[in-house]
Amino acid sequence: MTWNVWRVSPFITGLFFVLGVFTFYQVLYDELKSYVHRKNLNIDDDKLNAWFGILYVLILIFSMQASVVGTAISWEFMNFQLLALIFCAYFLNIRMKYYYFIPIMLFYLAFNGSIGYWESWCHGITLICYYETLNYFRRKQGNTYTFKAYILPGAFFCALLWLYMKIKFGFSWKVYGEEYLYLMIFMAFQYSYVTMILRDGQLKMHLLEFANHDALTKIENYAAYESEMQHLFNNSTNNKLDLSMMMFDIDHFKQVNDTYGHLAGDKVLQHTASVVQTIIEANDSKIKFYRTGGEEFNILFPGYDLQATKSIVKQIFAALNHLDVDINGKKINISISVGVSMIAKADSKPNDFYTRVDQNLYHSKRNGRMQITAA
Ligand code: GH3
Ligand code: MG
Ligand code: MG
Repeated sequence: MTWNVWRVSPFITGLFFVLGVFTFYQVLYDELKSYVHRKNLNIDDDKLNAWFGILYVLILIFSMQASVVGTAISWEFMNFQLLALIFCAYFLNIRMKYYYFIPIMLFYLAFNGSIGYWESWCHGITLICYYETLNYFRRKQGNTYTFKAYILPGAFFCALLWLYMKIKFGFSWKVYGEEYLYLMIFMAFQYSYVTMILRDGQLKMHLLEFANHDALTKIENYAAYESEMQHLFNNSTNNKLDLSMMMFDIDHFKQVNDTYGHLAGDKVLQHTASVVQTIIEANDSKIKFYRTGGEEFNILFPGYDLQATKSIVKQIFAALNHLDVDINGKKINISISVGVSMIAKADSKPNDFYTRVDQNLYHSKRNGRMQITAA
Protein backbone atom coordinates (compact mmCIF):
# COMPACT_ATOMS: atom_id res chain seq x y z
CA MET A 1 0.00 0.00 0.00
CA THR A 2 1.58 3.29 -1.10
CA TRP A 3 0.41 6.83 -1.63
CA ASN A 4 -0.67 5.86 -5.17
CA VAL A 5 -2.13 2.43 -4.55
CA TRP A 6 -4.74 2.24 -1.86
CA ARG A 7 -5.75 -1.39 -1.59
CA VAL A 8 -8.59 -0.97 0.86
CA SER A 9 -12.13 -1.47 -0.34
CA PRO A 10 -14.29 1.66 -0.62
CA PHE A 11 -16.63 0.08 1.92
CA ILE A 12 -13.94 -0.01 4.63
CA THR A 13 -12.70 3.47 3.66
CA GLY A 14 -16.27 4.72 3.83
CA LEU A 15 -16.76 3.20 7.24
CA PHE A 16 -13.72 4.92 8.70
CA PHE A 17 -14.69 8.15 6.98
CA VAL A 18 -18.06 8.10 8.76
CA LEU A 19 -16.49 7.38 12.13
CA GLY A 20 -13.85 10.07 11.52
CA VAL A 21 -16.48 12.68 10.66
CA PHE A 22 -18.27 12.15 13.97
CA THR A 23 -15.10 11.97 16.02
CA PHE A 24 -13.96 15.25 14.45
CA TYR A 25 -17.32 16.80 15.27
CA GLN A 26 -17.01 15.74 18.91
CA VAL A 27 -13.46 17.12 19.20
CA LEU A 28 -14.45 20.46 17.65
CA TYR A 29 -17.59 20.72 19.76
CA ASP A 30 -15.68 19.96 22.98
CA GLU A 31 -13.14 22.67 22.11
CA LEU A 32 -15.89 25.16 21.33
CA LYS A 33 -17.76 24.30 24.53
CA SER A 34 -14.70 24.76 26.74
CA TYR A 35 -13.98 28.08 24.97
CA VAL A 36 -17.54 29.28 25.68
CA HIS A 37 -17.24 28.19 29.34
CA ARG A 38 -13.80 29.76 29.73
CA LYS A 39 -15.05 33.08 28.39
CA ASN A 40 -18.21 32.80 30.49
CA LEU A 41 -20.34 33.49 27.42
CA ASN A 42 -24.02 33.15 28.09
CA ILE A 43 -24.68 30.32 25.60
CA ASP A 44 -26.54 27.21 26.58
CA ASP A 45 -24.68 23.91 25.80
CA ASP A 46 -27.69 22.44 24.00
CA LYS A 47 -28.13 25.51 21.81
CA LEU A 48 -24.42 25.51 20.99
CA ASN A 49 -24.60 21.83 20.06
CA ALA A 50 -27.64 22.42 17.86
CA TRP A 51 -26.26 25.40 15.95
CA PHE A 52 -22.79 24.01 15.59
CA GLY A 53 -24.23 20.61 14.57
CA ILE A 54 -26.40 22.15 11.85
CA LEU A 55 -23.54 24.24 10.51
CA TYR A 56 -21.11 21.30 10.51
CA VAL A 57 -23.53 18.96 8.75
CA LEU A 58 -24.60 21.56 6.15
CA ILE A 59 -20.96 22.30 5.29
CA LEU A 60 -20.32 18.57 5.03
CA ILE A 61 -23.34 17.87 2.80
CA PHE A 62 -22.82 20.82 0.45
CA SER A 63 -19.06 20.37 0.12
CA MET A 64 -19.47 16.68 -0.75
CA GLN A 65 -22.18 17.46 -3.27
CA ALA A 66 -20.13 20.25 -4.87
CA SER A 67 -17.67 17.66 -6.17
CA VAL A 68 -20.33 15.58 -7.99
CA VAL A 69 -22.94 18.15 -9.04
CA GLY A 70 -24.06 17.72 -12.64
CA THR A 71 -22.42 14.30 -13.10
CA ALA A 72 -24.24 11.03 -13.80
CA ILE A 73 -23.24 9.82 -10.35
CA SER A 74 -24.42 12.80 -8.34
CA TRP A 75 -26.08 10.32 -5.95
CA GLU A 76 -22.69 8.97 -4.95
CA PHE A 77 -22.48 10.65 -1.55
CA MET A 78 -26.11 10.13 -0.64
CA ASN A 79 -25.39 7.54 2.06
CA PHE A 80 -22.88 9.83 3.81
CA GLN A 81 -25.29 12.74 3.61
CA LEU A 82 -28.09 10.62 5.07
CA LEU A 83 -25.86 9.50 7.92
CA ALA A 84 -25.02 13.13 8.67
CA LEU A 85 -28.72 14.05 8.86
CA ILE A 86 -29.48 11.03 11.02
CA PHE A 87 -26.70 12.16 13.35
CA CYS A 88 -28.42 15.56 13.75
CA ALA A 89 -31.91 14.12 14.19
CA TYR A 90 -31.16 11.22 16.47
CA PHE A 91 -27.91 11.75 18.31
CA LEU A 92 -27.64 15.53 18.53
CA ASN A 93 -31.41 15.58 18.96
CA ILE A 94 -31.71 18.88 17.10
CA ARG A 95 -35.32 19.89 16.89
CA MET A 96 -36.04 21.44 13.50
CA LYS A 97 -39.56 22.42 12.51
CA TYR A 98 -40.38 21.04 9.05
CA TYR A 99 -40.73 24.51 7.54
CA TYR A 100 -37.10 25.37 8.41
CA PHE A 101 -36.13 22.65 5.94
CA ILE A 102 -38.03 24.22 3.04
CA PRO A 103 -35.51 26.98 2.23
CA ILE A 104 -32.63 24.51 2.73
CA MET A 105 -34.35 22.01 0.40
CA LEU A 106 -35.01 24.66 -2.28
CA PHE A 107 -31.42 25.86 -2.07
CA TYR A 108 -30.13 22.30 -2.34
CA LEU A 109 -32.34 21.51 -5.36
CA ALA A 110 -31.15 24.66 -7.11
CA PHE A 111 -27.54 24.01 -6.16
CA ASN A 112 -27.79 20.43 -7.38
CA GLY A 113 -29.55 21.38 -10.62
CA SER A 114 -32.45 19.05 -9.80
CA ILE A 115 -35.30 21.52 -9.40
CA GLY A 116 -37.00 20.14 -12.55
CA TYR A 117 -37.08 16.50 -11.34
CA TRP A 118 -40.17 15.21 -9.52
CA GLU A 119 -38.04 12.41 -8.02
CA SER A 120 -35.80 14.99 -6.34
CA TRP A 121 -38.81 16.82 -4.90
CA CYS A 122 -40.22 13.53 -3.54
CA HIS A 123 -36.77 12.76 -2.19
CA GLY A 124 -36.57 16.12 -0.38
CA ILE A 125 -40.06 15.83 1.11
CA THR A 126 -39.47 12.23 2.24
CA LEU A 127 -36.22 13.32 3.83
CA ILE A 128 -38.02 15.97 5.88
CA CYS A 129 -40.59 13.36 6.99
CA TYR A 130 -37.76 10.99 7.92
CA TYR A 131 -35.99 13.67 9.97
CA GLU A 132 -39.15 14.62 11.84
CA THR A 133 -40.08 10.97 12.52
CA LEU A 134 -36.63 10.04 13.78
CA ASN A 135 -36.38 13.17 15.90
CA TYR A 136 -39.86 12.51 17.33
CA PHE A 137 -38.84 9.00 18.44
CA ARG A 138 -35.66 10.33 19.94
CA ARG A 139 -37.42 13.05 21.92
CA LYS A 140 -40.00 10.57 23.18
CA GLN A 141 -37.18 8.44 24.56
CA GLY A 142 -35.58 11.28 26.55
CA ASN A 143 -31.96 10.55 27.31
CA THR A 144 -31.90 6.94 26.23
CA TYR A 145 -31.37 5.42 22.80
CA THR A 146 -32.85 2.26 21.39
CA PHE A 147 -31.62 0.58 18.27
CA LYS A 148 -35.19 -0.28 17.21
CA ALA A 149 -36.40 3.34 17.23
CA TYR A 150 -33.31 4.28 15.25
CA ILE A 151 -33.18 1.55 12.64
CA LEU A 152 -36.87 0.94 11.80
CA PRO A 153 -37.67 4.44 10.46
CA GLY A 154 -34.29 4.26 8.70
CA ALA A 155 -35.12 0.94 7.00
CA PHE A 156 -38.43 2.31 5.72
CA PHE A 157 -37.51 5.86 4.66
CA CYS A 158 -34.12 4.96 3.20
CA ALA A 159 -35.67 2.27 0.98
CA LEU A 160 -37.99 4.96 -0.36
CA LEU A 161 -35.22 7.55 -0.75
CA TRP A 162 -33.04 5.17 -2.75
CA LEU A 163 -36.06 4.19 -4.88
CA TYR A 164 -36.51 7.80 -6.06
CA MET A 165 -32.83 7.88 -7.00
CA LYS A 166 -33.12 4.55 -8.83
CA ILE A 167 -35.97 5.96 -10.89
CA LYS A 168 -34.20 9.26 -11.53
CA PHE A 169 -30.83 7.83 -12.52
CA GLY A 170 -32.07 4.51 -13.88
CA PHE A 171 -29.46 2.36 -12.17
CA SER A 172 -29.99 -1.38 -11.67
CA TRP A 173 -31.74 -3.16 -8.81
CA LYS A 174 -28.34 -4.63 -7.95
CA VAL A 175 -26.90 -1.13 -7.35
CA TYR A 176 -30.05 -0.19 -5.47
CA GLY A 177 -29.74 -3.25 -3.22
CA GLU A 178 -26.04 -2.70 -2.62
CA GLU A 179 -26.40 0.96 -1.68
CA TYR A 180 -29.32 0.20 0.61
CA LEU A 181 -27.46 -2.64 2.29
CA TYR A 182 -24.32 -0.50 2.76
CA LEU A 183 -26.45 2.21 4.31
CA MET A 184 -28.02 -0.20 6.80
CA ILE A 185 -24.59 -1.54 7.77
CA PHE A 186 -23.16 2.00 8.10
CA MET A 187 -26.14 2.99 10.21
CA ALA A 188 -25.57 0.06 12.56
CA PHE A 189 -21.89 1.06 12.91
CA GLN A 190 -22.81 4.68 13.41
CA TYR A 191 -25.21 3.67 16.16
CA SER A 192 -22.71 1.62 18.14
CA TYR A 193 -19.88 4.11 17.66
CA VAL A 194 -21.80 7.28 18.47
CA THR A 195 -23.55 5.79 21.50
CA MET A 196 -20.12 4.77 22.76
CA ILE A 197 -18.73 8.31 22.34
CA LEU A 198 -21.79 9.96 23.85
CA ARG A 199 -21.81 7.56 26.79
CA ASP A 200 -18.31 8.74 27.61
CA GLY A 201 -19.45 12.37 27.39
CA GLN A 202 -22.45 11.68 29.62
CA LEU A 203 -20.22 10.01 32.18
CA LYS A 204 -18.01 13.10 32.29
CA MET A 205 -21.10 15.29 32.70
CA HIS A 206 -22.34 13.14 35.60
CA LEU A 207 -18.95 13.33 37.30
CA LEU A 208 -18.91 17.11 36.93
CA GLU A 209 -22.43 17.33 38.29
CA PHE A 210 -21.47 15.09 41.18
CA ALA A 211 -18.44 17.27 41.99
CA ASN A 212 -20.54 20.46 42.08
CA HIS A 213 -23.60 19.23 43.94
CA ASP A 214 -24.36 18.28 47.47
CA ALA A 215 -25.58 14.69 47.66
CA LEU A 216 -28.09 15.33 50.49
CA THR A 217 -29.96 18.44 49.36
CA LYS A 218 -29.14 18.20 45.62
CA ILE A 219 -28.29 21.90 45.50
CA GLU A 220 -24.83 23.18 44.53
CA ASN A 221 -21.99 22.80 47.03
CA TYR A 222 -19.06 24.84 48.33
CA ALA A 223 -16.85 24.08 45.31
CA ALA A 224 -19.52 25.45 42.96
CA TYR A 225 -20.04 28.46 45.26
CA GLU A 226 -16.34 29.29 45.29
CA SER A 227 -15.97 29.27 41.52
CA GLU A 228 -19.21 31.19 40.86
CA MET A 229 -18.30 33.72 43.56
CA GLN A 230 -14.93 34.35 41.92
CA HIS A 231 -16.60 34.84 38.55
CA LEU A 232 -19.35 37.15 39.86
CA PHE A 233 -16.86 39.11 41.98
CA ASN A 234 -14.65 39.78 38.94
CA ASN A 235 -17.64 40.64 36.81
CA SER A 236 -18.97 43.07 39.43
CA THR A 237 -15.66 44.84 40.04
CA ASN A 238 -14.79 45.08 36.33
CA ASN A 239 -18.22 46.26 35.19
CA LYS A 240 -19.32 48.11 38.33
CA LEU A 241 -22.30 45.82 38.84
CA ASP A 242 -24.09 45.25 42.12
CA LEU A 243 -23.69 41.95 43.91
CA SER A 244 -25.20 40.92 47.22
CA MET A 245 -24.93 37.86 49.39
CA MET A 246 -27.07 36.28 52.04
CA MET A 247 -25.68 33.66 54.40
CA PHE A 248 -27.78 31.76 56.87
CA ASP A 249 -27.22 29.15 59.51
CA ILE A 250 -29.87 27.03 61.22
CA ASP A 251 -30.11 27.84 64.92
CA HIS A 252 -29.30 25.13 67.49
CA PHE A 253 -29.26 22.51 64.81
CA LYS A 254 -27.18 20.22 67.00
CA GLN A 255 -30.22 19.98 69.28
CA VAL A 256 -32.38 18.80 66.37
CA ASN A 257 -29.92 15.96 65.78
CA ASP A 258 -29.58 15.20 69.48
CA THR A 259 -33.34 15.16 70.04
CA TYR A 260 -34.68 13.55 66.87
CA GLY A 261 -31.63 11.80 65.40
CA HIS A 262 -29.42 12.52 62.41
CA LEU A 263 -31.90 11.19 59.87
CA ALA A 264 -34.46 13.70 61.07
CA GLY A 265 -31.75 16.38 60.85
CA ASP A 266 -31.07 15.34 57.27
CA LYS A 267 -34.75 15.68 56.39
CA VAL A 268 -34.83 19.17 57.90
CA LEU A 269 -31.85 20.15 55.73
CA GLN A 270 -33.52 18.76 52.60
CA HIS A 271 -36.75 20.54 53.40
CA THR A 272 -34.96 23.81 54.11
CA ALA A 273 -33.14 23.63 50.76
CA SER A 274 -36.30 22.88 48.83
CA VAL A 275 -38.27 25.74 50.44
CA VAL A 276 -35.50 28.24 49.66
CA GLN A 277 -35.17 26.88 46.12
CA THR A 278 -38.89 27.40 45.54
CA ILE A 279 -38.74 31.00 46.75
CA ILE A 280 -35.73 31.72 44.52
CA GLU A 281 -37.40 30.21 41.46
CA ALA A 282 -40.50 32.30 42.10
CA ASN A 283 -38.37 35.47 42.25
CA ASP A 284 -35.43 35.29 39.85
CA SER A 285 -33.56 32.33 38.39
CA LYS A 286 -30.33 34.40 38.31
CA ILE A 287 -30.11 34.12 42.11
CA LYS A 288 -27.74 31.27 43.08
CA PHE A 289 -28.15 29.03 46.10
CA TYR A 290 -25.46 26.84 47.75
CA ARG A 291 -25.00 24.57 50.72
CA THR A 292 -21.61 25.82 51.88
CA GLY A 293 -21.38 23.97 55.20
CA GLY A 294 -23.28 21.47 57.38
CA GLU A 295 -26.29 23.68 58.17
CA GLU A 296 -24.95 26.81 56.49
CA PHE A 297 -26.18 28.12 53.16
CA ASN A 298 -25.11 31.01 50.92
CA ILE A 299 -27.18 32.84 48.35
CA LEU A 300 -25.66 35.10 45.68
CA PHE A 301 -27.72 37.92 44.17
CA PRO A 302 -26.05 39.16 40.98
CA GLY A 303 -27.17 42.67 40.01
CA TYR A 304 -28.94 43.22 43.37
CA ASP A 305 -28.26 46.08 45.77
CA LEU A 306 -28.92 45.72 49.50
CA GLN A 307 -32.44 47.10 49.26
CA ALA A 308 -33.55 44.74 46.47
CA THR A 309 -31.92 41.79 48.24
CA LYS A 310 -33.67 42.51 51.53
CA SER A 311 -37.14 41.84 50.14
CA ILE A 312 -36.19 38.30 49.06
CA VAL A 313 -34.20 37.72 52.25
CA LYS A 314 -37.32 38.56 54.25
CA GLN A 315 -39.38 36.05 52.26
CA ILE A 316 -36.86 33.30 52.95
CA PHE A 317 -36.54 34.28 56.60
CA ALA A 318 -40.30 34.23 57.12
CA ALA A 319 -40.79 30.94 55.28
CA LEU A 320 -38.06 29.06 57.20
CA ASN A 321 -39.01 30.43 60.62
CA HIS A 322 -42.55 29.22 60.11
CA LEU A 323 -41.51 25.90 58.68
CA ASP A 324 -42.80 22.76 60.38
CA VAL A 325 -40.98 19.71 59.15
CA ASP A 326 -43.05 16.61 59.69
CA ILE A 327 -40.91 13.69 60.90
CA ASN A 328 -42.93 10.58 61.69
CA GLY A 329 -45.86 12.64 62.85
CA LYS A 330 -43.71 14.97 64.97
CA LYS A 331 -43.38 18.59 63.92
CA ILE A 332 -39.91 20.08 64.06
CA ASN A 333 -39.59 23.86 64.06
CA ILE A 334 -36.47 25.65 63.06
CA SER A 335 -35.22 29.19 63.03
CA ILE A 336 -32.36 30.77 61.15
CA SER A 337 -29.84 33.55 61.71
CA VAL A 338 -28.92 35.63 58.71
CA GLY A 339 -26.10 37.89 57.53
CA VAL A 340 -26.45 40.05 54.43
CA SER A 341 -24.15 42.47 52.68
CA MET A 342 -23.32 43.84 49.27
CA ILE A 343 -20.04 44.19 47.47
CA ALA A 344 -18.05 47.34 48.41
CA LYS A 345 -15.35 49.33 46.61
CA ALA A 346 -12.85 48.37 49.33
CA ASP A 347 -13.27 44.63 48.63
CA SER A 348 -10.18 43.51 46.77
CA LYS A 349 -10.96 39.79 46.81
CA PRO A 350 -14.07 37.61 47.28
CA ASN A 351 -13.08 36.75 50.86
CA ASP A 352 -13.24 40.45 51.91
CA PHE A 353 -16.88 40.44 50.88
CA TYR A 354 -17.50 37.01 52.40
CA THR A 355 -15.96 37.99 55.75
CA ARG A 356 -18.38 40.93 56.09
CA VAL A 357 -21.39 38.70 55.44
CA ASP A 358 -20.00 36.13 57.90
CA GLN A 359 -19.53 38.80 60.58
CA ASN A 360 -23.11 39.96 60.06
CA LEU A 361 -24.32 36.39 60.49
CA TYR A 362 -22.40 36.07 63.76
CA HIS A 363 -23.80 39.37 64.87
CA SER A 364 -27.26 37.82 64.44
CA LYS A 365 -26.16 34.74 66.41
CA ARG A 366 -24.64 36.76 69.28
CA ASN A 367 -27.70 38.96 69.55
CA GLY A 368 -30.11 36.14 70.30
CA ARG A 369 -30.43 34.33 66.89
CA MET A 370 -33.49 34.24 64.58
CA GLN A 371 -32.69 37.63 63.11
CA ILE A 372 -31.25 39.38 60.08
CA THR A 373 -28.19 41.63 60.13
CA ALA A 374 -27.76 43.54 56.90
CA ALA A 375 -25.03 46.14 56.44
P1 GH3 B 1 -25.90 27.62 66.32
O1 GH3 B 1 -27.26 28.17 66.58
O2 GH3 B 1 -24.83 28.32 67.06
O3 GH3 B 1 -25.63 27.55 64.87
O4 GH3 B 1 -25.92 26.15 66.89
P2 GH3 B 1 -25.83 24.81 66.09
O5 GH3 B 1 -26.17 23.70 67.01
O6 GH3 B 1 -26.68 24.92 64.88
O7 GH3 B 1 -24.34 24.82 65.63
P3 GH3 B 1 -23.17 23.78 65.73
O8 GH3 B 1 -22.12 24.29 64.82
O9 GH3 B 1 -22.79 23.55 67.17
O10 GH3 B 1 -23.78 22.44 65.17
C1 GH3 B 1 -24.06 22.24 63.85
C2 GH3 B 1 -24.61 20.85 63.74
O11 GH3 B 1 -25.00 20.55 62.40
C3 GH3 B 1 -23.60 19.81 64.13
C4 GH3 B 1 -23.72 18.75 63.08
O12 GH3 B 1 -23.93 17.49 63.65
C5 GH3 B 1 -24.92 19.16 62.26
N1 GH3 B 1 -24.79 18.78 60.89
C6 GH3 B 1 -23.87 19.22 59.98
N2 GH3 B 1 -24.07 18.61 58.79
C7 GH3 B 1 -25.13 17.78 58.95
C8 GH3 B 1 -25.81 16.85 58.10
O13 GH3 B 1 -25.49 16.70 56.90
N3 GH3 B 1 -26.85 16.16 58.60
C9 GH3 B 1 -27.24 16.31 59.90
N4 GH3 B 1 -28.27 15.60 60.33
N5 GH3 B 1 -26.61 17.15 60.72
C10 GH3 B 1 -25.57 17.87 60.28
MG1 MG C 1 -26.26 26.35 63.38
MG1 MG D 1 -23.04 26.27 61.61
